Amino acid sequence: MDSRGTRTPLSITGFIRQIFHPKKKTLMSLPTTVGPVSLAAREAAIKTLQQLLGDRLSTAASMRERHGKDASYHPCAPPDAVAFAQSTEEVSEIVKVCGRHKVPIIPFGTGTGMEGNVVALRGGVCIDTSRMNRILQVSAGDLDATVEAGVTHEQLNEQLRDTGLFFSVDPGANASVGGMAATRASGTNSVRYGTMRENVLSLKVVLPDGRAIRTARRARKSAAGYDLTRLFVGSEGTLGVITEVTVRLYGIPAAISSAVCSFISVEAAVNVVIKTIQAGVPVSNWPMQSRWTLLRGIQSSICRSRRRYGSNFTALRPAWKNRRRWSS
Ligand SMILES: Cc1cc2nc3c(=O)[nH]c(=O)nc-3n(C[C@H](O)[C@H](O)[C@H](O)COP(=O)(O)OP(=O)(O)OC[C@H]3O[C@@H](n4cnc5c(N)ncnc54)[C@H](O)[C@@H]3O)c2cc1C
Repeated sequence: MDSRGTRTPLSITGFIRQIFHPKKKTLMSLPTTVGPVSLAAREAAIKTLQQLLGDRLSTAASMRERHGKDASYHPCAPPDAVAFAQSTEEVSEIVKVCGRHKVPIIPFGTGTGMEGNVVALRGGVCIDTSRMNRILQVSAGDLDATVEAGVTHEQLNEQLRDTGLFFSVDPGANASVGGMAATRASGTNSVRYGTMRENVLSLKVVLPDGRAIRTARRARKSAAGYDLTRLFVGSEGTLGVITEVTVRLYGIPAAISSAVCSFISVEAAVNVVIKTIQAGVPVSNWPMQSRWTLLRGIQSSICRSRRRYGSNFTALRPAWKNRRRWSS
């Protein structure tokens, strides 16, 4: 892209190398449909947002750098400012101001994404949702909960502990539920309980013009109209800013056990998985690991299960102890 925003041709292989080559610390290529944002426009937007948010708008270098990078290898490209929104109305105002000045907006949860999607290639305003962290409603009878986008899945499960229910999607990092919806996150329990695609019932979203919409109602049987929820789940902040999420909850099983088995081949392991699921045995997850990563995996998985399920959880060890090999 040159200074006037016109397109520079890039071969397919060059494009792929630029994005995916981990050793080459180049920035991802810029989208070709958007022109550069003038400095005057950015400064005007920041000035207006400062009046709106006070010290909840930060232009400090360290804060901008923290928000210009996620857990991936992509190098940091900081936004011009970071706005800490506290409500849907505030997000709406921020979006309107940025829209007026044609300044990019980058929603931000906890920055645990693995694809560099929060990297601010053209600067702009990062909307950090971490202060939108209220659990708005837990409907134990309906098996759902509505939370603000910045609530993390660990925070939600901590709150649910005494209800006998849990939220099943756990990507391994303590991500925000809004960020998880935006990336259609999966996790260790997804074999049994599904990913965010299956577990988001409804969203409140601020659209690029600042309007806030709700994508669906909570009722499971409702099937009218476009499935807007699925449109926004996985949209990675490109279609709007998610401010509230209604998710499915599940009852914590009365008993849970875990076992470690070693197999003579990958094929043997896969066949056992297929046969077990076909037999209707409810299995939460099947992590397959090499000998070297196994011990660490077992340790963290047992700790996670204990934290979530408490005394209902038993780790079975005979297969591990006897190092029995299964041939399926
Ligand atoms: C150790 C580790 C293990 C992981 N394992 C898995 C795994 O097994 N499965 C898996 O799916 N992921 C996994 N991840 C990736 C990561 O946890 C997810 O991508 C997570 O869902 C992102 O949530 P976040 O709050 O950190 O979002 P961020 O990283 O802050 O943002 C991610 C994207 O979502 C957008 N976004 C964030 N919040 C909003 C919002 N409120 N509205 C609109 N858009 C928003 C951002 O603009 C960005 O495009 C792992 C990450 C780590 C570090």
